[in-house]
Amino acid sequence: MTAKVLVLPGDGVGPEICREAVRVLEALNHDHDLDVTLDEAVVGGAAVDAVGDPLPADTLAKAREADAILFGAVGGAKWDKLPREQRPESGLLSLRSELGLFANLRPAMLYPQLAHASTLREDVVSGLDIMIVRELTGGIYFGQPRATRTDVGGRRQAVNTMLYTDEEIERIARVAFDIARQRNGRLCSVDKANVLEVSQLWRDVVNEVGKDYPDVELSHMYVDNAAMQLVRAPKQFDTLVTGNLFGDILSDIAAMLTGSIGMLPSASLDEAGKGLYEPVHGSAPDIAGQGIVNPLATVLSVAMMLRYTLGRGDLAEKVEHAVGHVLDRGLRTRDIMDDEKQVAGTGEIGGAVVDMLQ
Ligand code: NAD
Repeated sequence: MTAKVLVLPGDGVGPEICREAVRVLEALNHDHDLDVTLDEAVVGGAAVDAVGDPLPADTLAKAREADAILFGAVGGAKWDKLPREQRPESGLLSLRSELGLFANLRPAMLYPQLAHASTLREDVVSGLDIMIVRELTGGIYFGQPRATRTDVGGRRQAVNTMLYTDEEIERIARVAFDIARQRNGRLCSVDKANVLEVSQLWRDVVNEVGKDYPDVELSHMYVDNAAMQLVRAPKQFDTLVTGNLFGDILSDIAAMLTGSIGMLPSASLDEAGKGLYEPVHGSAPDIAGQGIVNPLATVLSVAMMLRYTLGRGDLAEKVEHAVGHVLDRGLRTRDIMDDEKQVAGTGEIGGAVVDMLQ
């Protein structure tokens, strides 16, 4: 069946990186029996300029209809002074919540060719391949009550609420178990069950769901230890699952292990497996329009789309191998450059991936 992919390039380097990712999808359509149709719409600052809204109704309607969304990046100084709801970033946040994208997948993958880019020793990180599954629409970022107020004694106080229902925990746990099953079959659930009631419920529900996945080896770790272990010996992990707040912090630690923000893809999935796929980095306005941005995070986001929404793990592997070959050839954008390698532009890197796929 033909799948619909909506491309939302956005701002800054967004159009440049999406152009290369689209070339990859077109090559797969042409040469590898992929069957996707591509459509495009405006989002972020580009949409503010065009119609005064960072998520126009027409874009949202197309996003609802699509099977998968390829998202570039949004934001830039030009729009920073607008009220919050008109800022480009609000377009992305609204899109995530309108589409119910509750499962955020952030792989931290380090191609051995780039081990020098990490601030950690090469033997600690070379070949790193972790998947962090973060709950994205619940927990302390959304729990009620939330307020800043003054108590009867005139003291200022503020409150946020960390709240999870068993249903919310169960659905993210199922996503994580399914992913662990497709990877190396090991899942570590991260919580703070020694202190927090919400974490005890998290642990109980994850254990209950685990009974349906006897083939997946489940372990639990407190979040403070997980932060330490990620830096001490990150290769002990395969798939991690955790709540919104802990996942926010741990996924940034994991990203930094790789040292190359231009290489990191991500996915946000709904209950039916529909997904929004985007690089972890932002719109990089400092290098936009120069043809030097690294397109590989976006190309690897296409690989995630193939694996998690389009059911084409075989093609996902082809794309990932093609990226590996491009690195083997010594082609590098400036962000992942070391001494003896050849500086390549955005289009050259994208073209090299496409050549490999053909
Ligand atoms: P950024 O990720 O855009 O850039 C940080 C630094 O990394 C910059 O020096 C940039 O040139 C470099 N960089 C990033 N991606 C690169 C790539 N693929 N290749 C080479 N170099 C790369 O973060 P920032 O500068 O803090 O934010 C810029 C804008 O992006 C802001 O408006 C911010 O709000 C927005 N932003 C958007 C998203 C998103 O759309 N999902 C995420 C983060 C930031």
